[in-house]
Amino acid sequence: MATIHSGSAADLDFLADILRSGGLVAVPTETVYGLAAHALDAEACRRIFEAKGRPAYDPLIVHVASRVAADSVATFNAAAATLAERFWPGPLTLILPKKACVPDIVTSGRPTVAVRVPAHPLMRALLESSGLPLAAPSANPFGYISPTTAAHVQAGLGDRIGHILDGGPCTIGVESTIIDVRDATDPVVLRPGGVAIEALAEALGRPVRVHQPAPKPGAGLVEAEAELAPGMLERHYSPRTPLELRAAPFTAADLRTPAPGIVRVCFSRPAAEAAPDVRFLSASGDAAEAARALFALLRDLDGAGFERIVIEPAPPTGLGLAINDRLRRAAAKSART
Ligand code: AMP
Ligand code: MG
Repeated sequence: MATIHSGSAADLDFLADILRSGGLVAVPTETVYGLAAHALDAEACRRIFEAKGRPAYDPLIVHVASRVAADSVATFNAAAATLAERFWPGPLTLILPKKACVPDIVTSGRPTVAVRVPAHPLMRALLESSGLPLAAPSANPFGYISPTTAAHVQAGLGDRIGHILDGGPCTIGVESTIIDVRDATDPVVLRPGGVAIEALAEALGRPVRVHQPAPKPGAGLVEAEAELAPGMLERHYSPRTPLELRAAPFTAADLRTPAPGIVRVCFSRPAAEAAPDVRFLSASGDAAEAARALFALLRDLDGAGFERIVIEPAPPTGLGLAINDRLRRAAAKSART
């Protein structure tokens, strides 16, 4: 089992030392828990891939303490500067040309790097006390549901890592929005996440395209997709229990009909009486609350012995897009090989 640290000044010094000497520490962020290593130490980053069972073609996000620290790993343009100014610290990751100091293993050999300044106070304290940029993907075994508490990290990776910094439950609960802003005239969201696409368009004063995966019939993502958005595997975030994402919301009549062995998950609290084993993500239908609850609920249901989880889509605006993206991937039948 890994040691869980509460984040005292002594803990932070101790964990910063581990990171400086090439070790791994699971860290809280506002999105999900990450598995962090010194981003400029290729050997330390290799250990992340090993602990997660993550394929080498899936690059890592580099977390930094400030915009100044971001400048040391990536080359900014005006659009990137605008977004950083507006949304950092926060759940927005920028894809930008990388600086030479960033090792190939972090970017899976790409000329670009993914970078963000996280908002979680303990993560920020660790970035500052270590003085390092930290590469950190989600702290879960590759392909399983992302962790939003220290206990989730312990359950998934506790036998493979030594240290977890406990910062409480994540306040956003889904991963960062990833935007490729290398072409300032055509910014493209590669992954919907904690910053709404509407807010990005507003900040940039122009429409923002959302990259649409184009799966071939019966296959995973096409090559062009893999080229632009590596690691955005069709199957991801998956419980072991089969999960079905409905095309449309449940009707009141659907929810009144019993469905033995199946747990049904609504976006908001059903207005009318429902059969047993109907759950909901947010009583009031608030997308931010639903996002915060999503991964923990999927984990609970995965351990509850149901044959199948059937879930309705979120309304497709704001954080609803990030929720639906995770559900679509959690429901996908097969991994890209
Ligand atoms: P995770 O931190 O596990 O949510 O995964 C990070 C994700 O960021 C990867 O799966 C990629 O989709 C994306 N990413 C990281 N670096 C790059 C990059 N240089 N270009 C495009 N996408 C990236
Ligand atoms: Mg992940």
